[in-house]
Amino acid sequence: MKAAIFDSAKTTPEARLRIAEVARPVVKPGSVLLKVLACGVCRTDLHIAEGDLKPLRPQLILGHQVVGEVVEGGSLPVGTRVGVSWMGGTDGTCFFCTHQMENLCDHPTFTGYTVDGGYAEYVLAREDFTVALPEELDATHVAPLLCAGIIGFRSLRVAGVQPGERVGLFGFGSSATLAIPILQHWGCEVYVVTRGAEHRATAEKLGAKWVGAEDAKVPVALDRAVTFAPVGKVVVDALSSLRKGGVVAINAIHLDQMPAFDYDSLLWGERQIRSVANMTRADATDFLALAHELKIQPRVTVFSLDEANAALMAVKRETEDGSAVIVP
Ligand SMILES: [Zn+2]
Ligand SMILES: [Zn+2]
Repeated sequence: MKAAIFDSAKTTPEARLRIAEVARPVVKPGSVLLKVLACGVCRTDLHIAEGDLKPLRPQLILGHQVVGEVVEGGSLPVGTRVGVSWMGGTDGTCFFCTHQMENLCDHPTFTGYTVDGGYAEYVLAREDFTVALPEELDATHVAPLLCAGIIGFRSLRVAGVQPGERVGLFGFGSSATLAIPILQHWGCEVYVVTRGAEHRATAEKLGAKWVGAEDAKVPVALDRAVTFAPVGKVVVDALSSLRKGGVVAINAIHLDQMPAFDYDSLLWGERQIRSVANMTRADATDFLALAHELKIQPRVTVFSLDEANAALMAVKRETEDGSAVIVP
């Protein structure tokens, strides 16, 4: 099969994947072989390809927003369309798995990181970690829901968003665009801070109550905030916009650094900073049901497998208005 291979020994500041023919994966007990219909490109892929996340394997196929069709193995009929997300498996036995926190499992499988992912014509997935998909969206439009969508939704949960609250989104990308319709459904006011002029225009179009540039001060005290940029300064900016008792959830697997900040004025008053790690299968099911109900349809830009590097660069430079998706 054709695949985009990441050779971890060759990590460069600019990600470079190699397009090559490799052996098709072989079905194992409990797994299904999927023909990849579409695979979304996530900032995490970029963090892996650029060495921000520790390389775990000499060669790896990235991609963890996979829409695929069952070809072989498992109990689902051949041809069934399913999704595969970042959470590719857990041990099911550790403290976290047995306390409804499988996202924090001690021995997790991460699609496109600890095992091969979806920048390929075929992918192997654990059947019990595949997710059923809404019928009415085509594969390219479902793909971005599988990480950007689910993680964005989990971030709102981790931030503890309540109906009608004022919620700030700091930094803007695929995840934020998918979170806005959910916040509106909950009757929340959305405040967006982002450096990109195009992103500000998009946020306005999506119905944000207020939109500001990087250093603009949110005009109200926020109940909750979610940060999407891989930059610690943005977390401090978000924190400085919170009311007492408010929460900042960090939707980023990697931050450049966390700058020092003033405890007395920014964190005192029971404000909280929380990271958002991975997702549970319940997050996936709940979000996809909501996406179906609200008819959430992400805007996408499609790349071929041969253009995998261009797709990563589009995410890096934030040049795509919407989500980058690879169709092999
Ligand atoms: Zn992701
Ligand atoms: Zn576990």
